[in-house]
Amino acid sequence: MGLFDLFKKKKPAVDKSAQPETITPEDAAPVVEAVPVEEKQAQRTGRMRRALNRTRAFFATAFATDPEGLVDDEFYDELVDAFVLADVGTGLGQELSDAIQDRMKEAGLVKKADVPGVARELISEILSAGDPSPLDPDTLSVIMLVGVNGSGKTTLAAKLAHRLNQAGHRVLLAAADTFRAAATDQLRVWAGRVGVDIVAGQEGADPASVVFDAAQAARSRGTDVLIVDTAGRLQTKKNLMDELGKVTRTVDKACPGANVAHILVLDATVGQNALSQAELFNECCALTGLAITKLDGTAKGGALIAVAKQLRVPVLYVGVGETPDDLVDFKPADFAAGLMPD
Ligand code: GDP
Ligand code: GDP
Ligand code: MG
Repeated sequence: MGLFDLFKKKKPAVDKSAQPETITPEDAAPVVEAVPVEEKQAQRTGRMRRALNRTRAFFATAFATDPEGLVDDEFYDELVDAFVLADVGTGLGQELSDAIQDRMKEAGLVKKADVPGVARELISEILSAGDPSPLDPDTLSVIMLVGVNGSGKTTLAAKLAHRLNQAGHRVLLAAADTFRAAATDQLRVWAGRVGVDIVAGQEGADPASVVFDAAQAARSRGTDVLIVDTAGRLQTKKNLMDELGKVTRTVDKACPGANVAHILVLDATVGQNALSQAELFNECCALTGLAITKLDGTAKGGALIAVAKQLRVPVLYVGVGETPDDLVDFKPADFAAGLMPD
């Protein structure tokens, strides 16, 4: 069971014998339209494809001239350019184009029209690196969100809280960004909107102490998932990274036996800078997974391939907008499909 599966664990079925004899319309549970699995998948794939519109445009250009034509050196050069423009990085751009060329040859394929399929397979493989950590469904789960300022941690905290709450989990938010009073206020507003509890501290309080209090509250309230929103910090500021290390140690101490996930929240619009963030945050607090935000509207979606390849940590979630519903489960095949033109 991986982190994804948290969302699948629904509320236990209501014990019918404990129900009142007559159920008035007000008592009856709201009828939730069951969305068929295929339809959900199609929605997810569609949202990912839309989020990648601008990044995909570079590849569409490479295929634009004579899509029915045969691949040649000029085409593969254009493919490198497309990868570089999509911000996968120069070295990796060349590497991907070469690998695609090799696979085309091996398969005896010669038409440009065959390239997207081969590219999708390759990219999907790279993005499948790293296994989501196993999860004990019967114990508290703690999701710590870390990252630089403005990457989308607080918004993701709200999105995850909303999803988990809707799936019937008892969720608690911890406002461990104590640097600015406004940060706690922002999370408090979200907590109210999505209807979950929040534990906060005073401005300037030790974030570790907020986390400690939140962990105690989580245990005494029978919380299923505790989501910790931490203060943004530059990966190069050693003292702040040390502070984050302390927060993670506090979580481990205060929540023995819990499933603890450290998720790095990366803003897709920063492109290649995500690599340095990923490397240094991983050193500080052994990352469990990545969340990519603001994929909507950026043309730099390719950087995600570079990060996944370097870190071998799975991408779990993608943010595609500013509302609580703008969260998509990351599937490598969806991303790879969305990147390439049809
Ligand atoms: P934090 O500093 O890491 O907590 O970042 P915030 O959660 O406060 O987000 C910073 C800004 O990015 C806010 O204006 C958010 O509305 C916006 N944002 C966050 N996630 C997304 C996303 O997936 N798409 C878009 N378009 N905007 C986002
Ligand atoms: P150390 O700071 O690395 O020595 O680790 P500690 O075990 O002392 O605790 C780490 C952090 O957790 C502390 O800085 C406190 O902020 C917090 N903490 C530990 N014990 C308590 C407690 O009993 N109450 C509260 N509110 N916070 C605590
Ligand atoms: Mg924040």
